[in-house]
Amino acid sequence: MKHTPHSNGSSLDRSGGAGGVRRPGRESAAARRERAAAIAERLARAHPRADCSLAFTSPFQLLVATILSAQCTDKRVNMVTGELFSRWPTAAALAAARQRDLEAVIKSTGFYRAKARNIRGCCLGLVERHGGEVPRVLADLVRLPGVGRKTANVVLGSGFGQAEGVVVDTHVGRISRRLGLTRHADAVRAERDLVKVVPRDHWIAFSHRLIEHGRTVCPSRSPRCDDCPLADLCPRVGVPPARQRKAASRRPRAAGRSGDH
Ligand code: SF4
Repeated sequence: MKHTPHSNGSSLDRSGGAGGVRRPGRESAAARRERAAAIAERLARAHPRADCSLAFTSPFQLLVATILSAQCTDKRVNMVTGELFSRWPTAAALAAARQRDLEAVIKSTGFYRAKARNIRGCCLGLVERHGGEVPRVLADLVRLPGVGRKTANVVLGSGFGQAEGVVVDTHVGRISRRLGLTRHADAVRAERDLVKVVPRDHWIAFSHRLIEHGRTVCPSRSPRCDDCPLADLCPRVGVPPARQRKAASRRPRAAGRSGDH
């Protein structure tokens, strides 16, 4: 399916800079907000069922699963959380778990010693400071061991339905830079840019939809710009011309792992 470009009133430079790498044209803050709103609407239509791919039944389970998802796929995390939550169903139970028992259950998610320490510390914090419940306040969440702003945003957004920020993982950051919505590689600075331009009612779903978009249309090495529903809204920052992309997609991928969150 080809998408026909049409103007949304924003200034996009698709002419290509040195080496064919495109850079965003001069764009006012108002035009960028308008373009970001159009992107959010388009993504909602293109990926209406995109959602958190971690399995959970409560904000507590989502918090623990998100800590486990660092440098690991959600699929792998979902393979261990069934046993994890049946053995230790509450924050109090996990806080009291023996380090080596927990490590054995989560070992396949990688970095299992640090993750086990963080999960036990986080659960101890929940018990001592929050009566064993997950707080709904970002400042309280980020004080828990192993919980950064990204994890806190996942829990508040997908666990409580509270839009306090935009979750920025490697995929969200990468595609947001291509879309010219931020130029920052640092997740906190990228999020700061995104919340300025993406309408708040899209904040929670925006990340899930961008991740789905990256998986299906805009992968790192071979974006399918000709078939992309965002083609007329995207300056394709850093995306090489089609000829180079085709050559890159024919080269074998290096083995590697990347986290979903
Ligand atoms: S596939 Fe191309 S046009 Fe679509 S978001 Fe990615 S870089 Fe932009």
